[in-house]
Amino acid sequence: MKQTLLQLNDISFAYEQRKALDHISLQVNEGDFLALLGPNGSGKSTLLKIILGLLKPTSGEVVLFDEPAKQFKHREWIGYVSQKSNAFNSGFPATVFEVVRSGLTKKVGLFKRLPKNVHTLVDEALEAVGMLAFKSRSIGALSGGQQQRVFIARALISEPKMLVLDEPTVGIDHENVQAFYDLLAHLNQQRGITMLLVTHDVDVVSSHITHVACLNQTIHFHGYKNEFDEMSQEARDVWYGHAVRK
Ligand code: ADP
Ligand code: MG
Repeated sequence: MKQTLLQLNDISFAYEQRKALDHISLQVNEGDFLALLGPNGSGKSTLLKIILGLLKPTSGEVVLFDEPAKQFKHREWIGYVSQKSNAFNSGFPATVFEVVRSGLTKKVGLFKRLPKNVHTLVDEALEAVGMLAFKSRSIGALSGGQQQRVFIARALISEPKMLVLDEPTVGIDHENVQAFYDLLAHLNQQRGITMLLVTHDVDVVSSHITHVACLNQTIHFHGYKNEFDEMSQEARDVWYGHAVRK
C-alpha cells in the first residue's frame, strides 16, 4: 500500500469576503504525479499555499501522513518551486551555488551540524538536475529553463518527499519545456519524489502524469490520468486555462 502523504478534507478558503476555494477534497499518495489544472483565478495557487502550510484554511481539515495538521507553518518535507522570479534578471548578484545553498537554511537550524560538507550537498543537488557545470555562474546570466533547474536543486537539497510546482514553465522557452518535464518525471520515477504540478501544458506533460485534478473553486474532476483522457476534448479544454491550446 502506498502511503497517503496529504489529504484535504472539505477545505474552504476566502480572502476577506472573496471566496477562493469552496469545499475542496483531494488526496495525494506517495509516488503520484498529479497535474492540477484550472483557469486563471480558479484557486490553484491558493490551494498550493494551503498545502505548503502558508495559509490556514477558513474551514476544513489538512491531514499529513494520516495525522491532522495542527500547525500552519512551512512544511519541511515539501519542496516548492514557483513561477520564474523576475528578481533573477541579468545582473542579479547571487551565484548558482548561493541559490542552492539557501535551500539549506532551515535544515541547518534543525540539525545544527550538516551530515555532509555544504559543497558536497550542493554538488549532489546540481548534479541531479544536470546543472553542476554552472555552479559558480551568476543565476541572472542563465536562461529561464536553467534557472528553474537551479530552483529544483534548491528544493532538492532539503530532501523533500514531495515537490509542489506552480506553473514552473512560464519563463521557459517553448523548445525546452519538454526537457524540463522530463526532469520532473525522472525525479518522480527514479527518486520516488511525489509531484504536484500546476500547469496549462497538459499535452506536453501528459505522458508523465498519473493523476489529474481540475479546479474551479471546487474540484470538478479528480482521478487517474487515463480517466481524464476519456473525457471529451470539449470537456477537457475547459481545464487547460488560457495557454497553448487553440
Ligand atoms: P490561480 O492560481 O488559479 O490563478 P489564485 O489562487 O491566485 O488562482 O486566486 C484565486 C482567487 O483569489 C482569485 O479570484 C484571486 O483574485 C483571489 N486572490 C488571490 N490572492 C489574493 C490575495 N492575496 N488577496 C485577495 N484575493 C486574492
Ligand atoms: Mg496561480
